[in-house]
Amino acid sequence: MRSKRLRREIDDLAAQGRIEDGTRDRPVAVCRKRARFTSGVRIAAMECRHCASPLEKPGDFCLVCREANADAVVLDVARDRTTMTMLEDDDVVGETTITTVPEDGDEAEVVELRNYAGLIADEIRRKRPEEVYASGDREVVRAVRAELHYPFYRVDGDDPVEAVRKRRGDRALDVVETPPAEKIGGSHTTLIGGRTGMRAIQTVAGHPHVKKVIPGPIDAGGKGSQSGLRAKVTRADDGGNVRLLLRDGSSVQENRIVTTARDREMGERVREDLNDVLSEEEFQ
Ligand SMILES: [Zn+2]
Repeated sequence: MRSKRLRREIDDLAAQGRIEDGTRDRPVAVCRKRARFTSGVRIAAMECRHCASPLEKPGDFCLVCREANADAVVLDVARDRTTMTMLEDDDVVGETTITTVPEDGDEAEVVELRNYAGLIADEIRRKRPEEVYASGDREVVRAVRAELHYPFYRVDGDDPVEAVRKRRGDRALDVVETPPAEKIGGSHTTLIGGRTGMRAIQTVAGHPHVKKVIPGPIDAGGKGSQSGLRAKVTRADDGGNVRLLLRDGSSVQENRIVTTARDREMGERVREDLNDVLSEEEFQ
């Protein structure tokens, strides 16, 4: 229940046209300082915190003053429903839900999944966030990630918003904006696994905390029997760098990955992220 005082405050702001009142299913709005939770009713910013122009949806990028009103977006993704939470600093400034009715059957499902991912991506783009975090259904997350060019991270846990807040609390890791292709270097240009190997390397190079990927020599003397390319990131060294092991039948290639982590602990975080992305892309 809302307190009488809060109820009055909301009514006043609504009367002035400064907010829209909301429900759990249709969460809405006030200026950032007032954003708060009251037993399931969420109130978030419906006006630009820079110039006070009205926003169509909470956390939208302001088209009047060209400033963002959400610096991060957190997705809690299920196959049929995604909750998207907008954060500015560590405040929740809005929340929105995107749903779909999952289809069965190859073609129908492909189209439905693509539309669902497209809707989520559209909602994210209108915020123009600095970062996107996602937890939940891997297939959907992969499809959304493919549509966007924002630094994109996977988070785990029951409460992804809380996990992201904690993580952003110690923002020790720099983000590299170099295009993935320009991050791949070194004197060994041959990769095992051909085009698939290249795709694995590019997947890793696309990570915002990866500075450089340096392919190593190929060792063909192993006795592995598995067919198909497998990719795995190994434990971080003291400097926070890791290695990408590519395995294809009996061939193994160890590739150096220079990260923006400066110690083992942060390097391990990057390793977990990279292995998540590789398994999402079905290299594991
Ligand atoms: Zn504005």
